[in-house]
Amino acid sequence: MLLLKSSAIPFLLKPETVLMIQVVHSVYDKYGKDCTITSMNDGVHSKSSLHYHGGAADFRIKNILRPGGREDDPLSWDWTMINKIFRECKAALPLPFQLILEKDHIHGEVDWKNFPRQGGMLNG
Ligand SMILES: [Zn+2]
Repeated sequence: MLLLKSSAIPFLLKPETVLMIQVVHSVYDKYGKDCTITSMNDGVHSKSSLHYHGGAADFRIKNILRPGGREDDPLSWDWTMINKIFRECKAALPLPFQLILEKDHIHGEVDWKNFPRQGGMLNG
């Protein structure tokens, strides 16, 4: 299931971000895990963050647990499955998408500056 944390605001999400969310959701679903978006255009991020431009979303990983694991104990999370899900998401989302496995979430963004064309899409 695709879920939104109550504080996650989808204000002016780019269509590319929506597509990224659908792809990440489909990978979580394959592993039988709920995909919870914990942040979009909200929260506190670095000053230049694409979160403030509808170009990024964060995905919960604390629900991916080993048997008997607890969400408040990262050492009991299923890091093998988390890494598998992360790698599959990365493989399914080539540039301009970028995914980063942070210590308690997967950060995903679409950054056309990184698109492999001369100068990128936005810089001519
Ligand atoms: Zn993020």
